[in-house]
Amino acid sequence: MKKIGIIGGSGFNKIHGIESIEHIEVNTEYGNPSSSIQRYRVGDLEIYLLKRHGMNHTIAPHKINYKANIEAFSSLGIDKVIAFAASGAIDKSYKLGSLILTSDAIDMTKSRANTFFDKDIVAHIDMSVPFCPNLQNTFLQSAKDANIEVTLNGIAICTEGPRIETPAEIKFFEKIGATTVGMTLFPELTLARERGICYISVAIISNYAAGIEKNKITADMLLENSLKSSENINKITLNLHKYIEYKKTCPCENSIEGTVLNAN
Ligand SMILES: [Zn+2]
Repeated sequence: MKKIGIIGGSGFNKIHGIESIEHIEVNTEYGNPSSSIQRYRVGDLEIYLLKRHGMNHTIAPHKINYKANIEAFSSLGIDKVIAFAASGAIDKSYKLGSLILTSDAIDMTKSRANTFFDKDIVAHIDMSVPFCPNLQNTFLQSAKDANIEVTLNGIAICTEGPRIETPAEIKFFEKIGATTVGMTLFPELTLARERGICYISVAIISNYAAGIEKNKITADMLLENSLKSSENINKITLNLHKYIEYKKTCPCENSIEGTVLNAN
């Protein structure tokens, strides 16, 4: 049986059109993940859905236990994860509610537990290919099959939050190449890499970043546009089983090889 994990951000709480088989409570040595994990089955694929902000959306981005979330997937034998994240558009050409496949990323977080390798080991995980190319292809094929447009090559910047950025910060982020801004990509991405999990991130455009449009950014606006896109995400999710690869041909699971510094 093939397995995939999905991390739902704001607005994507369950998969419609199929019944969940069970809710799995997982405890890890790093603590509890954000929510129980809903297990579904479509064809020969098991889908495990985790709600990043908790069952009732009460966990702020800087308070999420990212290590427990990734460890929970790892302990269930899940080696592929698709993460959705409500994001602000820095690139004006992005439409509200659209899906942007992230191809590269910049970490601007400040205070998060960001590695599994913080005890008796020094490892510098390679991020020269930040996202799994094979899983990106699976996602793109599944979207095409559902007739849903996905914009490629987004560059995501991850801020600490929970406040929204200032216009000057957004101008700076634009100058250094970012096209979307969010608060949850790091350390989720790097922890998944450390565990050898194929990981991709899809930005859901929920607002325009500060200074890009004059309107005040409100929580209602973020949620409304995230909800708009959830129907499309659902359709793509139901197609994944047709395109996911059985045998891994990407380098993700061997990510730790050659990265550990050993004094001996
Ligand atoms: Zn991979």
